Amino acid sequence: MSSLQAEIERRGTRIFELVDRYPESIFSKAGFYQRMMEFSMRDEHFKVQMFRFVDVLASLRRGPDIVQHLDEYFAEMRNGVAPLIQTGVHLARVMPWVSGKILRWNVSGMARQFIAGRNPAEVMKTLRKRRKQGIGFTVDLLGEAVVSEQEAEEYATRCFELLDVLAAETRGWTDPVGGISELFPVVNLSVKISALYSQMDPGNPADAIAHLAPKLRPILRRAKELGAFINFDMESYAHKNATLELFRTLFMEPEFRDWPHAGIVVQAYLRDAEKDLRDLIAWGRSRGTRFTVRLVKGAYWDYEKIKSKQNGWSIPVWLQKPESDANFEKVTRILLENEAIVTSAFGSHNVRSIAYAQALAEQLDIDHHRFEFQLLYGMAGPVKRALVEMGYRVREYCPVGELLPGMSYLVRRLLENTSNEGFLRAKFSENMSAETLLRDPRELVHAGGNGAVARAHRQMHQHNGASLDQPPIDTYENASLVNFVYRESQEKMRDALREVQTRFGRKYPLTIGGRRVWTQTLMSSLNPSRPDEIVGYVAEAGIAEAELALKAAHDAFENWSRTPFEERCQLLERVSAILDRRRFELSAVEVFEVGKPWAEADGDIREAMDFCRFYAQQMRLIGRPRLTQQVPGEESYQHYWPRGVALVIAPWNFPMAILCGMVTAALVTGNTVIMKPAEPSAIVGALLMEVFEEAGVPPGVLNFLPGHGSVIGAHLVDHHDIEMIAFTGSREVGLRIWESAGKTRPGQHELKRVVCEMGGKNPVIVDSDADLDETIVDTIYSAFGYQGQKCSACSRLIVLAENYDRVMERLIAAAASLRVGNPEEPGITIGPVIDEKAYRRILEVIERGKEEATLAFQGTDFPATGYFIPPTIFTDVKPEMTLSQCEIFGPVLSVLKARDLDDAIAIANDTDYALTAGFFSRSPANIERAKAELVAGNVYVNRSCTGAVVGRHPFGGFKMSGGGTKAGGADYLLNFVVPRVVTENIMRHGFAPEETPPYRNEFGSNLS
Ligand SMILES: Cc1cc2nc3c(=O)[nH]c(=O)nc-3n(C[C@H](O)[C@H](O)[C@H](O)COP(=O)(O)OP(=O)(O)OC[C@H]3O[C@@H](n4cnc5c(N)ncnc54)[C@H](O)[C@@H]3O)c2cc1C
Repeated sequence: MSSLQAEIERRGTRIFELVDRYPESIFSKAGFYQRMMEFSMRDEHFKVQMFRFVDVLASLRRGPDIVQHLDEYFAEMRNGVAPLIQTGVHLARVMPWVSGKILRWNVSGMARQFIAGRNPAEVMKTLRKRRKQGIGFTVDLLGEAVVSEQEAEEYATRCFELLDVLAAETRGWTDPVGGISELFPVVNLSVKISALYSQMDPGNPADAIAHLAPKLRPILRRAKELGAFINFDMESYAHKNATLELFRTLFMEPEFRDWPHAGIVVQAYLRDAEKDLRDLIAWGRSRGTRFTVRLVKGAYWDYEKIKSKQNGWSIPVWLQKPESDANFEKVTRILLENEAIVTSAFGSHNVRSIAYAQALAEQLDIDHHRFEFQLLYGMAGPVKRALVEMGYRVREYCPVGELLPGMSYLVRRLLENTSNEGFLRAKFSENMSAETLLRDPRELVHAGGNGAVARAHRQMHQHNGASLDQPPIDTYENASLVNFVYRESQEKMRDALREVQTRFGRKYPLTIGGRRVWTQTLMSSLNPSRPDEIVGYVAEAGIAEAELALKAAHDAFENWSRTPFEERCQLLERVSAILDRRRFELSAVEVFEVGKPWAEADGDIREAMDFCRFYAQQMRLIGRPRLTQQVPGEESYQHYWPRGVALVIAPWNFPMAILCGMVTAALVTGNTVIMKPAEPSAIVGALLMEVFEEAGVPPGVLNFLPGHGSVIGAHLVDHHDIEMIAFTGSREVGLRIWESAGKTRPGQHELKRVVCEMGGKNPVIVDSDADLDETIVDTIYSAFGYQGQKCSACSRLIVLAENYDRVMERLIAAAASLRVGNPEEPGITIGPVIDEKAYRRILEVIERGKEEATLAFQGTDFPATGYFIPPTIFTDVKPEMTLSQCEIFGPVLSVLKARDLDDAIAIANDTDYALTAGFFSRSPANIERAKAELVAGNVYVNRSCTGAVVGRHPFGGFKMSGGGTKAGGADYLLNFVVPRVVTENIMRHGFAPEETPPYRNEFGSNLS
């Protein structure tokens, strides 16, 4: 055993002795809290329900509502808790007012365990007590998620007030341990950076710094005057780089450069931790003044993992708990070895991590008063006491704030206390031995992982997609989104924007039968942010070219339809790979041609890649003839034939994804295609053609035919040689196609199949108990993301009366904070609408809207030129009004007030459309109702109603929203084929094989 390990064990054992001398459960509050935590650790389902109940409780105002929620969350529990809860519910029903109060009191008690005070005055009581115990403090302001600049201002004001109160109330206080006190001011404030600016965007740290620095400077100035210390807390990974950069920028300014009382957090659970710390130390040396680093493991482990998995990003956190522990120690060493420039604050409750820092500091001969241990209020009390007794400097992190905003903090602490992998549970609840708890974490890191997560991972893979819980189709893995948090991604995007700009004005031909075809007329494609800028030109097809394309597609059909499906699948996969290679360039073209913000453009390219890969996968599932029934003496195989020539007519709002999705579905099933992009996004269409050509699509199989819908579109829709039409676009055009395709014309041999996806008037309902932090952020995104020009966009917000005022106050403030501008700049939420026609139409709708409803908000800060329409919100909207019934396709939101949930659902369902619908609620019963009753093809609960992901959210509506097909779903390809069954009697003179194979090769595959 190394001498360091021996010293760690000696010190760790000493801490445990001291801890055990004053035995105290971590769940120091007896009664309700203790029992809830015990149940939570015994039963994962109870824990989930319990924490969800806690989360909603603070927002419930009436006793009967509390009882109702209690019942809904726990009614179906079948474990040991059930009788207790049921008795509670029973009693509560009899006396809802009393029991609601009692419950709230109990949960408030839980929250009070972790929240040091509701306001500065209350927190002072706690701080005085701690002072007597020799414990210092840092105070953190709890708050709701900051969704608007108004809320960000309020947070800044609260910081000032708190600093003033703390400074005034602690006048005359001295350092708890004495000596070296100049490094450790008594007043210490922890600041959440994201609470000071509501529009932080990971892709644009410069913008974040430009907005945050002016807000922080006065706070820092005041802290400096008062002799206080300011710490920048660290939040999610998305904000990490901006927070670090902000810290370095501000504290390099002459005013603050020689001020040593600034600190920042490094999270050891991040793989970046070591590099970030080394960069900080190098910066600190060049600055020449001490600063502090609080080293923690990190509070958002589950969130980071889930978020990354959802978006296909590499996971920034270590996946095994001992890896985080080991990294904590590695970073501890770097900190202590650089003690000359950086003061260490070790934020941990883990005795091994603490003992390591103590032992190493001693080995490095560092005075034990030159660093400190920081622990959270309400947690690990005995450890704090032990550390004080050992003569160490201890600071408590004291959150201050009201119960409601404190709930998410409370739930985080509850999760931490009950985590299977957490130190506190292991020591205080499972009484693990000191020897085990003090082991070197590096010995515990396993190749395959040893934690609950790794176990679950292994179990999942044992099933290999073969169980009922995990059907085989659930094996599709989506392409990843670009993570703009990385500087490298930001630079690639900026380079691509510059590069694409240099080829503005380029001309693109038609492609017919594999040949480039130029025509007399060129159509120009404009940049809607700067309409005098021409992005490029495409040749315009007329009737003659449409006929040529049709002939080419017909001629190519014979061969293509007989090409093995595997080859067709591989074509799609090559297309996906090329899209991936060119994704920044293609995204940049979308920024210019259709005004998409960076992340939206990237999402569109990702979706196109997904369509290629998903449809290839689906085709492999349906491509081989499949035995219909196992019956002796006869074999019957069902398989699919392509329909013929498909006409694809696509919209401009997802210029790559929707075009590519319809084209690939048609091609992979063996149809040949005439591809007509929307006029405003014809350049993206031309680039998709280029991609297909590079991927090796045979001549005539895909023909590129830009032109006017009213001319070539109408001509081809009516043509007797078109077998199918895949259309996405407006209701007006869609219905015309539907009707026209229904007519049988002379020379027509097939009944035309139409895949028709149209618009929506999508409702989002906000229940009276909804989590408003989530509701506001997601509604703003659903209504105004890409200027409201998504068919899935929220255009009607239906708010229950009880919550109405609070929702509107926060919603309008959030809308007022949105950045409207040219989307070349990252972090812009609202860019231009697509063209002048749309611009005039939307403005007209707004003018008419003013006559029927109240214009509650319209942004005023937007560029003077370009087709910019600021976010616009109407209130007092009634269900029958035009604002409620007609699709607007712009950044205009109509808000309707509903009496109750019945009323809200009736309003939501009262339109011609049925595309998407959203519901925000924390009532399990109401959520169940919404799931059952909302009339929409895609119903989203507690999330935005846009952003369907291929394979995960098969997308499409019914009623006047479409024909009920689901793009990106398992049955979509079936629209592009005709089924066929081939039956053969295989009995010869009474003899037949015992069994027939379930699948066979494609018919005719052995003829070539
Ligand atoms: C005073 C103080 C201030 C803090 N400030 C911040 C802050 O600004 N920002 C922030 O993010 N956190 C902050 N934290 C940290 C956080 O809130 C947790 O308290 C801390 O991570 C718990 O670690 P521990 O060493 O006490 O316990 P341990 O039980 O030893 O470690 C638990 C931690 O290990 C990590 N972990 C859990 N499971 C896994 C796994 N499977 N694989 C890898 N790692 C895993 C997680 O980070 C988890 O929190 C702060 C903590 C303290 C004490």
